[in-house]
Amino acid sequence: MPLNVAVIGAGISGIGAALLAKSRGHDTWVTDAQEIRAERKDILNQHQIPFEEKGHSLERLLASDLIVKSPGIANTSPLMMQLTEAGKEVIGEIEWAYRNADGRIIGITGSNGKTTVTGLCHHFLASAGIRAAKVGNVGEGFCDYLATGSADWYVCELSSFQLEDVDTFRPNVAILLNITPDHLDRYGYSIDRYAEAKMRITEHMTEEDTLIYNAMDPVTVAKVVSRQTEARLWSIRESDLPDDEKVFVKDDLILDLSKSRLMGRHNQVNVIAAARAALLAGCPPESLQRSLESFVNESHRMEWSGEHKGVRYINDSKATNVDAVYYALGAMKTPVIWIAGGQDKGNDYGPIMDLVQNKVKALICLGIDNAKLYEAFSTKVNYISETTTMHEAVRRAASMASSGDTVLLSPACASFDLFRDYRDRGDQFKHEVKELNHV
Ligand code: ADP
Repeated sequence: MPLNVAVIGAGISGIGAALLAKSRGHDTWVTDAQEIRAERKDILNQHQIPFEEKGHSLERLLASDLIVKSPGIANTSPLMMQLTEAGKEVIGEIEWAYRNADGRIIGITGSNGKTTVTGLCHHFLASAGIRAAKVGNVGEGFCDYLATGSADWYVCELSSFQLEDVDTFRPNVAILLNITPDHLDRYGYSIDRYAEAKMRITEHMTEEDTLIYNAMDPVTVAKVVSRQTEARLWSIRESDLPDDEKVFVKDDLILDLSKSRLMGRHNQVNVIAAARAALLAGCPPESLQRSLESFVNESHRMEWSGEHKGVRYINDSKATNVDAVYYALGAMKTPVIWIAGGQDKGNDYGPIMDLVQNKVKALICLGIDNAKLYEAFSTKVNYISETTTMHEAVRRAASMASSGDTVLLSPACASFDLFRDYRDRGDQFKHEVKELNHV
């Protein structure tokens, strides 16, 4: 039966939600508190979806059957309170997609590694000829995809923000990679509230479903124990990582990362998680090693970016928190010139102190305010300097590095003080590395 569907927020996910509603024959309307960007208005017009901007008409919202809201809008905002008090059903985009999806779902969440695991798992499935779609933050949104396509398996990256607004969402397979401090500003600086948002992924899972989780991460383990999900549990343990490059996936199925582009212990965990989910989705075990070797990750995640005078350059611009840097430094087998800094999200550098002391020979701070980095590492690193341009950071790193060293961009911070986003930061790094070879 066609419904009156209102979508609040005309961002990328809101537009996707509206297109999905329209494609299912619902009477669809979009409302945004700000001015809607011209290209988004064009899309709405093309699909004959009416909209309002620069404010919300409460009366029309109250008259709708179902409201889909964008993840940017907090549940505690006055508008949301009014709508829930009036008994309106307000759901998020993932819930909306779930209610309209026909295939089965692999849902992937965690503080770090979501994009890598989503991409790899999808690659395993697609390479084995399974009709699979990769949906979520990188690439196409889940709603967007469903508006025009369908698949047997949806491999879905899920942020804590998206999970806050799920209601009946039930993935057939869920992967919980880790819960470490990130985005705490949104959760009143409480890791418990942040963890609770992530755990919503398991809320409606049943004994027919499987939760793959990282048993080496204490916060994840504590939450899995306290939640008592009905899902079958498949833990990733220390014993699944026999050495630096191999992993045990299941029984005698071993995968070898040495022939892949993925490096580091965190990627060993990622490979196990993605491979197990792929097996549950019906991938033949013998297909996995070859697919692993042909997998190319999204840029800016421990990406090999070139070599100059025997020095390797690695772009890990997506490392916007301390935990990601912990694994990046852990994967380094040579002395490191470390480029870090940017907008601090309340970082505690304690967990990486020893790694920095043992591996980093120079730190180049690339940010507007570098006081915290200086304070944390002045007694751990012999040489620290600062700059506000990537050009200067890479030149300085090159001048200090000796053959056999690695220059690692792994900032531990957000990029918005000096760059458009982490992609811009990583692209500038790669550009400057290329330039080194031209001078
Ligand atoms: P997300 O989508 O969760 O942000 P990405 O796959 O984009 O995760 O990786 C983000 C950063 O975290 C990169 O610097 C990457 O090297 C690092 N990383 C990837 N997987 C893990 C993991 N399992 N544990 C910790 N850090 C990871």
